[in-house]
Amino acid sequence: VDGTADEGVHAFLHLNQDEALAVAAEVDAIRTAGGPEADELHPLAGVPIAIKDNIVTIGQPTTAASKILEGWMPPYDATVVRTIRAAKLPILGKTNLDEFAMGSTTEYSAYGVTRNPWDLNRAPGGSGGGSAAAVGAFMAPLALGSDTGGSIREPAAFTGTVGTKPTYGSVSRYGLIAMASSLDQIGPVTRTTADAAALHELIAGHDPKDSTSLHTQWNTLLEATTDQDLSGVRIGVLEEFQGPGFSAEIWEKFQETLDLLRDAGAEVTTVDCPHIPYALHAYYLIVPSEVSSNLARFDGIRYGNRVVPDGGGTVAEVMAATRAAGFGDEAKRRIMLGTFALSAGYVDAYYGTAQRVRTLVIQDLKHAFEHVDVLISPTTPTVAVKLGDQLEEPLSMYLNDVVTIPANLAGIPAISIPGGTAEHDMPVGLHIQGPAKSDATVYRVASAIE
Ligand code: GLN
Repeated sequence: VDGTADEGVHAFLHLNQDEALAVAAEVDAIRTAGGPEADELHPLAGVPIAIKDNIVTIGQPTTAASKILEGWMPPYDATVVRTIRAAKLPILGKTNLDEFAMGSTTEYSAYGVTRNPWDLNRAPGGSGGGSAAAVGAFMAPLALGSDTGGSIREPAAFTGTVGTKPTYGSVSRYGLIAMASSLDQIGPVTRTTADAAALHELIAGHDPKDSTSLHTQWNTLLEATTDQDLSGVRIGVLEEFQGPGFSAEIWEKFQETLDLLRDAGAEVTTVDCPHIPYALHAYYLIVPSEVSSNLARFDGIRYGNRVVPDGGGTVAEVMAATRAAGFGDEAKRRIMLGTFALSAGYVDAYYGTAQRVRTLVIQDLKHAFEHVDVLISPTTPTVAVKLGDQLEEPLSMYLNDVVTIPANLAGIPAISIPGGTAEHDMPVGLHIQGPAKSDATVYRVASAIE
């Protein structure tokens, strides 16, 4: 809690030492006293948690790792934070991310990079590199992330941790600073599948403050992780993800996993989703479009640290100066791409086409899940990249998300669990996804493989 453990890694942007210690002491006192109050404690009470800094918290700054929100103290708690406080989990602090959750390495943070605890010269993945590094380095047993195209799962794969992107609408987005609202979902980062299921179960549920929140019950997630029987489980491997694209060692590791699954009684088959190769292209039009709209509010008038040009200026000049100074390169790149993709004359050709591709991807996955219970693959094409390697190469960075993006486009649940190590002894992830609302099945299969 005092930050010494984080010196080399820089997972945290803010430490909440006093409050965390006070909550831990309170839980300790309740447990020691015993009686009904102790019986009513949530099983996770007293277990510390780190929170990605795009989730708003009273009493702690929330910056989304952007200069435009430097020092901002939110006047309210996100629904997930309220739930966590009510269950008495000490909040350790706020974790680093790529600015507004756009990126795959955490290098686009305005407050310095986070390093991968497995190799300090490598990235911890992104955008939620801080949460994954905090868990991977044993600084926090639990963390919350947000996943729009892989920002929970890719960092989990790169740090040897477990990360879930729940079914869209399972966890309230109220108080999550919006990146691409039709894809964003909050989820757990943990060391084990059972921990992820327990935390997911705690934070899931209908919230009237989020109009896309589902009324589904999520109370069988933890229980599902106790069923270790894989016999008869139908596991699909996507034809489109065979071999090329993945590093040779990652592919080899994955084949070993498939053999283990067959030995355990699972039926492994190949399935076809012909539009999946286009998911990445659709994503990188839909996301910038939604980003350009969501980030329009940070103009120095409504939100954000105002920058006034020398000698004053018009409202438009203040907005321009604020945005020029406050946003980093990747945020600006996406705002410009999105504004273009949505502009009159181009909207149907770009945004409209991307939405149609999204529908085809959703249909492909629906058909696939008529034949299999889950789809599995490696989580990422490579192990964690070296810091700096992709900084000037946004296109190669975008390719990291090829496996994780379809689940966001389709709103389906997906998890990355540790799948051994590959090149340079770096961890690799195993990705498991299932149809919408099948989160319990995904946890069940994940825990059986784990
Ligand atoms: N790397 C992806 C992107 O940059 C994912 C981001 C996310 O899930 N927040 O868009």
